Amino acid sequence: PHGIALLQNPLLNKGTAFTEVERDSLDLRGLLPPHVQTQDEQVARFLENMRRLPDPLEKFIALSSLHDRNVALYFRVVCDNLDEIMPLIYTPTVGLACQRFGHIFQRHRGMFISINDRGRIADILKNWPYKAGIIVVTDGERILGLGDQGANGMGIPVGKLSLYTACAGIDPAICLPITLDMGTNNEDLLADPYYVGLRRHRVTGAAYDELVDEFITAAREVFPSVIIQFEDFANHNAFRLLEKYQDKICTFNDDIQGTAAVALAGVLSALRVKDTALMDEKFLFLGAGEAATGIADLLVAAMVAQGTDLQSARQRCWLVDSKGLVVQSRSGLAAQKLPYAHDFAEQADFLSALKALQPTAIIGVAAVSGAFSTEVLETMAEINAAPIIFALSNPTSKAECTAEEAYYATKGRALFACGSPFAPVQCCGKTRVPRQGNNAYIFPGLGLGAIATGAMRITDEMFLAAAQTLAAYVTPADLEQGSLLPPLTSVREVSVHIAVAVAEVIFERGLATKSRPENLLELVRAHVFDPRYPSYV
Ligand code: NAP
Ligand code: MN
Repeated sequence: PHGIALLQNPLLNKGTAFTEVERDSLDLRGLLPPHVQTQDEQVARFLENMRRLPDPLEKFIALSSLHDRNVALYFRVVCDNLDEIMPLIYTPTVGLACQRFGHIFQRHRGMFISINDRGRIADILKNWPYKAGIIVVTDGERILGLGDQGANGMGIPVGKLSLYTACAGIDPAICLPITLDMGTNNEDLLADPYYVGLRRHRVTGAAYDELVDEFITAAREVFPSVIIQFEDFANHNAFRLLEKYQDKICTFNDDIQGTAAVALAGVLSALRVKDTALMDEKFLFLGAGEAATGIADLLVAAMVAQGTDLQSARQRCWLVDSKGLVVQSRSGLAAQKLPYAHDFAEQADFLSALKALQPTAIIGVAAVSGAFSTEVLETMAEINAAPIIFALSNPTSKAECTAEEAYYATKGRALFACGSPFAPVQCCGKTRVPRQGNNAYIFPGLGLGAIATGAMRITDEMFLAAAQTLAAYVTPADLEQGSLLPPLTSVREVSVHIAVAVAEVIFERGLATKSRPENLLELVRAHVFDPRYPSYV
């Protein structure tokens, strides 16, 4: 009898929604209460229970255990209630869930590979019972803006892969979250009896690189066409690893490249409001890390695609890091900052850089909460009729400013986007509706396009195409209320079209392993997972 096995397999389970006929033919009779429910009723019941829970972390736990029991129902709940559920399964709640990971741990999900597994990673990956098509991997060293969370960082790959399915319909059966446990330098975790990872400090240098390399080789051996997304690696590894692998395998770094695409889409919307061109803008970044230089590089690529020369394009982007404005005279700058180290007087901090440079746009990606002070915001409002202000650091506790602060200080004139969600704001007689510069608008659709075509590589050109597609979904009505991105509720439709645009690039560049069909939209749609239950008889 396989009835119990069916109920215990989260990818197949329908719980009380198994029909009379299924109950008879699949040995389920008697294992379920007699009344057959619809999936809609199950969704409503889950939501009723979840909404009674006292705080977001409890809701996160309830959602995780639903995910463990019944994958289709979990994604119905998520897909039909994205605005409500996304902040629970992703930022901001996922940040807290990582910090509390060991304490709220209930059940295995994804795979952990540790530094002690050297030499046997391929064998370990063979323990995964499914054929992985997409891996999101972290080493937990820079989880959101929360720093080193060690093996507890697993919450992030799990959450990101949920978004692949929720936002683009990637088949959950091909999603594999992986955490590389390289140790942690977070002393609180090392002292925590419930910490899930190795009790040791981080490995660095050759031992670190060899483990990553063995992992990459093994993953491609065991899952030949897999896409590998690097997520929440620390700055000092993220750029190196991307450079090392991006021309050899199908990989990308979402913190660098995905962030860039969603930010560019937001900027393109702001230009429509202002009726200006990219080259008319001057961008000042707070932060000079993965997000900042990723965004700057894509802004430059977009300007170059419009005919600007590289040097002039780079002159439009300026970075402030922990030591002040990035300028030519500073020594020892990291490679990714060099293109933006212009010939200019040193400035000790963001406010003085702001006053000296008079930018049209400020983009916060340094995880320094409150860095866009009232003075910063008011200065932007003095310089600009419509200042572009993006406070992208996550989670909410790390945001440079709140939506309210941005709108109040600029009398509602700010063209604002945020990293974590903020509610609409009443300001100067108008309702401003800030939207999230959420990478979830980009990577799920990009992944869908890559899977549908069997892509061999992920290139910057694909992120540019994704950003332009996303920007095209922002309506005049969105812009009118200050929204620079489409509503999250449209993300599934947007993702399909991003996938088509990305697939177009993949075929054009000869990077597909599948042959090009007549209709790309049909190709993409054929790969979309439907969370409604199929019939088993
Ligand atoms: P990262 O690579 O570690 O970079 C952080 C940067 O911030 C570094 O350049 C650092 O300077 C700079 N910084 C730190 N303290 C500073 C200070 N007091 N003043 C000025 N600069 C300072 O991290 P990341 O990947 O770019 O991520 C940064 C933040 O962006 C995180 O909160 C993350 O959650 C958020 N983020 C948001 C989105 C999104 O909204 N879609 C996407 C990705 C990331 P040094 O170079 O001198 O160390
Ligand atoms: Mn990230």
